[in-house]
Amino acid sequence: MASSLPPLRIGLGYDSHQLGNHGPLRIGGIDIEADMHAIGHSDADVLLHAITDALLGAISEPDIGQLFPDNDPKNRDRDSSDFLHEALVRIRRHGWEIVNLDCVILAERPKMGPHLSAMKEAVSGLLDVPPDRIGIKAKTGEGLGSIGSSAAIAARVVVLLHGVTS
Ligand code: MG
Repeated sequence: MASSLPPLRIGLGYDSHQLGNHGPLRIGGIDIEADMHAIGHSDADVLLHAITDALLGAISEPDIGQLFPDNDPKNRDRDSSDFLHEALVRIRRHGWEIVNLDCVILAERPKMGPHLSAMKEAVSGLLDVPPDRIGIKAKTGEGLGSIGSSAAIAARVVVLLHGVTS
């Protein structure tokens, strides 16, 4: 019996990374001049990692850590656009496409505002989704906790997919 459910899937992604001294800070597919960088096995792009997990979660696929383990030398310093591309291949293979996504970056410093449109353009290009279907905003930690003390950076993402009828 055909499913009567609407052909929609929602996905949620979250990621965080510790921050270290000296820049640049890689986030959202761009490098920001800053006195800090995100520490990780790959290029540690917290926003692309959260988007990747949102896409994978929406189609019930294994998460980024399972697909690209941080103990695999192949993933050392790897460009996170590779992870995003794999997630995109998988959603398309299963007959889904992106309706829109909304992202929140959690960072005390540097100021993200001046860089959000460049990030949006970069993510738009990587996902082949128009910029007006991508939301990226930033919040500080108001001085509280690991975000507020600039010990860490994090991102949260929701994505909506719809089924492609062929
Ligand atoms: Mg990560």
